[in-house]
Amino acid sequence: MKAHDGMYIGGAWRPAAGTDTITVLNPADEQPVGEVPAGTAEDVDTAVRAAREAFPAWAATPPAERGALIGALRDQLVARKDEIAETVTAELGSPLQFSQMVHAGVPILVAGSYAELAATYAFEEKIGNSTVYMEPVGVVGAITPWNYPLHQIVNKVAPALAAGCTVVLKPAEDTPLTAQLFAEAAHEAGIPAGVFNLVTGLGAVAGQALAEHEGVDLVSFTGSTAVGKQIGAIAGAAVKRVALELGGKSANVILPGADLTKAVKAGVANVMSNSGQTCSAWTRMLVDSARYDEAVELAAEAAAKYGSRIGPVVNAKQQARVRGYIDKGIEEGARVVAGGSEAPREQGYYVQPTVFADVTPDMTIAREEIFGPVVSIIRYEDEDEALRIANGTVYGLAGAVWAADDAEAIAFARRMETGQVDINGGSFNPLAPFGGYKQSGVGRELGPHGLTEYLQTKSLQF
Ligand code: NAP
Ligand code: MG
Repeated sequence: MKAHDGMYIGGAWRPAAGTDTITVLNPADEQPVGEVPAGTAEDVDTAVRAAREAFPAWAATPPAERGALIGALRDQLVARKDEIAETVTAELGSPLQFSQMVHAGVPILVAGSYAELAATYAFEEKIGNSTVYMEPVGVVGAITPWNYPLHQIVNKVAPALAAGCTVVLKPAEDTPLTAQLFAEAAHEAGIPAGVFNLVTGLGAVAGQALAEHEGVDLVSFTGSTAVGKQIGAIAGAAVKRVALELGGKSANVILPGADLTKAVKAGVANVMSNSGQTCSAWTRMLVDSARYDEAVELAAEAAAKYGSRIGPVVNAKQQARVRGYIDKGIEEGARVVAGGSEAPREQGYYVQPTVFADVTPDMTIAREEIFGPVVSIIRYEDEDEALRIANGTVYGLAGAVWAADDAEAIAFARRMETGQVDINGGSFNPLAPFGGYKQSGVGRELGPHGLTEYLQTKSLQF
């Protein structure tokens, strides 16, 4: 893998202020694949200054021109599609085909959507005797996780640039090589110097310095709820805007009239893809008691099929964490019907695709985000109980409802406390707002709603 030994700041790769480095490991074989500099507060400060300096000219660039440059960035991502997929596979461990289709493919769609939105969005509106201008918020500090390394970056950088904001990105320490590839693409696309800047480094050092920096107007964070709470507190104290995309514990609600086989298979596939490392994964499967045993059998079969096709989880710590949750589930009385906590291979951070039956809503595995290939099947007696269980966690990011027809599923989904629900297998829409109710977050990403996060209004009366 190609790795830069500097930071991308002000349109060029520059040496880091310090000498510390981060070694990137391939989670499939635990071997090093590259090394990047570990940024310090000094690097963050240099990058924020570059972003500040570039802000006035970028904000004044006509939106259609910004859109054209985001379009060029999209084309650069297309040109690097294979390299992106190979890099994500090397540092995250996901199977190459999934990296190609999802990790490389989806960001291309999202970047394309913001190229178009920049050019077509109404940045000006008339309300009575006022003209309301939508102006960029300023300098954005973006902090991203490793689970969808490029998607999480593009979800923030593309709308920020479309809005006229400039950006400093601190990507996850586990997946910095994908972030460096993105910086190369931005450079080749002709995004002006200082509009996009990259500082690789550790969360507690570079991430924290970025969140705390006075020159940052908006912190956009995706990751764990624990760190999200800290970032929210820092932003609140400084009266800075903040967007938080946090964890989830989404429910896959299978109502009595639904096609059970289809719903169970889709539910298991949803969790197993990306080795369960998806914040919106439907990790709780809710089934009525009449069909419970049948659903458990179908789910166990479906999970067993993933045996050798599933990738590892991202690192040793996550592997230990996920295995710990599986042990906890057994300890609290849930029944393993596929997989288990034993590591399936000698080498690599693999976890067995695991299905639990007899899970009750109060169990740890039903309440906490596991972030691994683990599905919990929970029994309900009637629709009201299903709703209570579905809404019974602190999270509310996503979910699914399956029923005999769409109308019935929609009626149930409208009562769910969650930001996105797929109805009878409805497909991913890169323009639909994505984000959490309750502790799953603050703010929305994707499409026009994602764009407004980076805008503030100015009203002129005349
Ligand atoms: P995390 O620590 O929240 O990481 C997310 C990002 O925040 C990374 O870039 C991280 O840097 C950075 N960060 C960490 N501490 C920070 C701080 N004090 N100030 C500013 N930035 C900071 O998540 P994780 O440790 O990688 O994963 C732990 C758990 O979080 C997972 O098991 C999962 O439950 C959840 N998670 C959720 C999502 C999601 O999409 N909702 C994504 C990833 C993880 P480093 O890379 O250096 O830590
Ligand atoms: Mg961390």
